[in-house]
Amino acid sequence: MTTSAPITIPSRRVPLELAECRDESVESFFASNASSSNVQHAKMICARCEVREECLAYALETPQIYGIWGGLTADERVLLRRSMRR
Ligand code: SF4
Repeated sequence: MTTSAPITIPSRRVPLELAECRDESVESFFASNASSSNVQHAKMICARCEVREECLAYALETPQIYGIWGGLTADERVLLRRSMRR
């Protein structure tokens, strides 16, 4: 997450330099233990990220099945997708 290339969002492009995680370790966002302190750390970073909404939309639309995107874990995104279908 240290590249400066823009990430592509289905409906718009968001420069990665706006991503709050741009200088964070990948392990924080792709930890294998969902209850780990890494996950909580990543969620705190996402909470203050100005492209959080776009990031979550991208993760739901593509869909991303691993890691934390837009402040949600993979399991939380599954639950969100299910609730959106109802
Ligand atoms: S919402 Fe979280 S994972 Fe997405 S770009 Fe922002 S800090 Fe990174």
